[in-house]
Amino acid sequence: EPKLDGTFERVMKIADQFRKLKVRTNADTPKDAQTAKNFGAEGIGLCRTEHMFFGADRIDSVREMIIADNKIDREKALAKLLPMQRDDFYQLFKIMDGLPVTIRLLDPPLHEFVPHTDEETKELAVRINTDFERLRSKVKALHEFNPMLGHRGCRLAITYPEIYIMQVRAIAEAACMMMAEGKKLSAPEIMIPLVATDKELEILRAQAEQEVKKVQVEKNIKFEYHIGTMIELPRAALTADAIAEHADFFSFGTNDLTQTTLGLSRDDSGRFLGSYVSQGILAQDPFMSIDQVGVGALVKMGVDFGRRTKPSLKIGVCGEHGGDPDSIEFFHKAGLDYVSCSPFRVPIARLAAARASLLTKKLHS
Ligand code: PEP
Ligand code: MG
Repeated sequence: EPKLDGTFERVMKIADQFRKLKVRTNADTPKDAQTAKNFGAEGIGLCRTEHMFFGADRIDSVREMIIADNKIDREKALAKLLPMQRDDFYQLFKIMDGLPVTIRLLDPPLHEFVPHTDEETKELAVRINTDFERLRSKVKALHEFNPMLGHRGCRLAITYPEIYIMQVRAIAEAACMMMAEGKKLSAPEIMIPLVATDKELEILRAQAEQEVKKVQVEKNIKFEYHIGTMIELPRAALTADAIAEHADFFSFGTNDLTQTTLGLSRDDSGRFLGSYVSQGILAQDPFMSIDQVGVGALVKMGVDFGRRTKPSLKIGVCGEHGGDPDSIEFFHKAGLDYVSCSPFRVPIARLAAARASLLTKKLHS
C-alpha cells in the first residue's frame, strides 16, 4: 500500500499549516480512495460513477437499460444495479470515515455503453429475447456524431429520470446503513454533471430531494446531504448566479470547460497542440495547466456570480487541473475552497496549495 515516509510526511504536515485550499481526491474505487487517504486527501471531490457500470456483472444490465423501449423495462434493469451501486457508495463512505464524499451522478458518453459489434448485439438480443435486426437498428439510432456534446450528463436524466433516481436512492440507502451502524458520515454531496441552465438543476434537484426523502421515511433515518453541480460549460459559468439558487456547492470541471471554451477536443487535440505550444500560440497544454485568461476568466466569473447569490457557497475544482501546481495557485487566488485530484497527485497538491498561500501572503505584506 503506497504511503508517505516519515520525513516527507513531516514536511507535508508543516506545509499543511500554511495552506488555505483543502485537498480532496478523484476516486471511484475503494483502493484509490484508500491510497489518496494515505497521501492525506481530505475527502473525495469527485467519484465518477460511470466507471462503476462497466464491470462484467453490470454491463449487461446497463445495456438493457440503455436500449429499453419504455420506463418499465428501464426500471427493471436499474433495479438490478441498485444493490451493487449501494454497496459502491457504502464502501467509499466507510473508507472515508467521516470525510466529505462527492458523488457525481452518471455522465457517460452513451456510445461507450451500447454493444460495439454485431456479436455483442446478437448476444444481447438472445438474452433479452428480442429480434436481432430490430435491436441492431436501435443500437444504430443511439449513435452520435459528437458524443461529448451529445446525450450526456444531466441531459440523460432529463430524458430518463429513473437513472438518477436509482443512483440517488443508492446514495441515500448507503447513508442510512452508515447511520444505522453508528459510523461516521459527512453529509453526502450529490453532484449533477454538465449543467448548462439553472432549469436543469432545478428539475433534477427537486427529483433527487424527493427520492432522498422517500428513503428517509422508509428507513426512518435522517441524515444531512447536499446537492450541487459541476460548472463545466461556459453557459454555466456565465449564469452561475441563477444556477447557485439551486446548488449547495459548485465544482469546476475544467476538463470539459477547457474543451468547450477553446472548442478543442479533449480526445483529439494531441496532434496539433504541440505546435501551438512550441510556436507560443498557447503558453502550455490547456488540458494540463489552466488557460488563465480564457478558461480562468470563466472560473473567476463562476465564483463571483455564484457567491453573489450565496456568499458561503462551497466551491472546488475536480478537473485534471486540480493537481497542477500553477493551476492550484490560480485556484487559490480565485477563492476556491478545495482542489480535487488523482490520488498520486495529492501530495504535490498539498505542497502547491501551501506555496500558493505563502506567495500571496508575501505579495500582500
Ligand atoms: C471535467 O470535465 O473536468 C471533469 C472533472 O469531469 P470528466 O473529466 O469526468 O468529464
Ligand atoms: Mg466533465
